[in-house]
Amino acid sequence: MALMLLFTGCSVNPVTGENELSLIGESQELAMGAEQYKPTQQTQGGQFYIDPELTLYVREVGNKLARESDRPDLPYEFVVLNSSVPNAWALPGGKIAVNRGLLTKLEDEAQLASVLGHEIVHAAARHSVQRMQKGMLINVGMAGLGFALSENEWAGLLMGGASVGAQLALAQYGQGDELESDHYGILYMKEAGYDPQAAVELQEIFLRLSEGQQAGFVDGLFATHPPSSKRVRENSKLVDEIGGGGYRGADVYKKKTATLRKVQPAYEAHDQAMKLASEGDMDAALKKINRAIEILPREAMFYALRGRIYQEQKKQTRATEDFEKAVSMYPEMFMYRIYNGLNALKLNNLSKARENLARANDVVPTSIAFLRLGDVAVKENKRDEAIAYYSKAAESSGDIAEEARRKLAALTR
Ligand SMILES: [Zn+2]
Repeated sequence: MALMLLFTGCSVNPVTGENELSLIGESQELAMGAEQYKPTQQTQGGQFYIDPELTLYVREVGNKLARESDRPDLPYEFVVLNSSVPNAWALPGGKIAVNRGLLTKLEDEAQLASVLGHEIVHAAARHSVQRMQKGMLINVGMAGLGFALSENEWAGLLMGGASVGAQLALAQYGQGDELESDHYGILYMKEAGYDPQAAVELQEIFLRLSEGQQAGFVDGLFATHPPSSKRVRENSKLVDEIGGGGYRGADVYKKKTATLRKVQPAYEAHDQAMKLASEGDMDAALKKINRAIEILPREAMFYALRGRIYQEQKKQTRATEDFEKAVSMYPEMFMYRIYNGLNALKLNNLSKARENLARANDVVPTSIAFLRLGDVAVKENKRDEAIAYYSKAAESSGDIAEEARRKLAALTR
């Protein structure tokens, strides 16, 4: 009991002023967010580098709201991610991300402010920290390296901290947290000069879309921030109390998202190509991805997918060229490094395989990269190195862990 008391603390929630259990202190909270921000961005699509101005704009709006929050001194950061899934998330410590797939659904800056204000409250009120303490984080499903519609397929391959970050980003908040985030988010909007009615409208739109079960929304925003008629009612009541009216910024929002809307057909073609590839129709998928590349030749993601399609079609040289291109356009992105590394291993280019897989692991450690680094080491007759890599992969689960354990047993026999 004494031991329990030693490790159990109580603290006042900085947003609501209520007493709550506090097992994870503020320095730990901030460290977690800071460490997991970059890997979590990458597992959720990576940065939308095509339009850096857009991230500056989102940051500007986010900072306006953060200044009005109950924890203005958190090290807030805002980024736009390269994902069509309409979603937004917040890691502890104010590390926030919004997907381009959500930005295309919004009409003005006040609506954007309502999304960001809501996420700021999740971070400021320590919602995900509370859920972690209660052991309520979802177990992100098993993975494969098949074609899939979302980046979530990576979740089951992630190791260590990167997997915690993904769980935090994909965790479903309870209705209580959602109502709290709406409530204080609306107050922050009002303080920052935005029309809080925009938050009510947005919830109405989301509720309608969720009732229509719009594809994409189901595994995006609705899964993590479930809409409800109660949210619409409560928000509407609050706005009546504090008074609507204020800045909307429809023209500014249209101008700032002009590039995004212009290149949108390219991402639609990419998403169709992904769907066709996952259904096994590689010829049709190739046509679609070529269309995407024609519209937006600067997008690394398109070459990564085309490389995988070429691989399926046994066009090895072309696949290699495309993976190289994806890596050269976005060298930090772990996913492109993995594709490039696995491809190089298949071609027995060991040094290239090792470099790419190791660099992928530097940013986002995955079981598949550890396993294949072990294979590279075996081919290079580096027994100790192979054992170290296989041991690491064996800590994961599923087929990859099994293969690693088998190879480990063969080496240590
Ligand atoms: Zn939420």
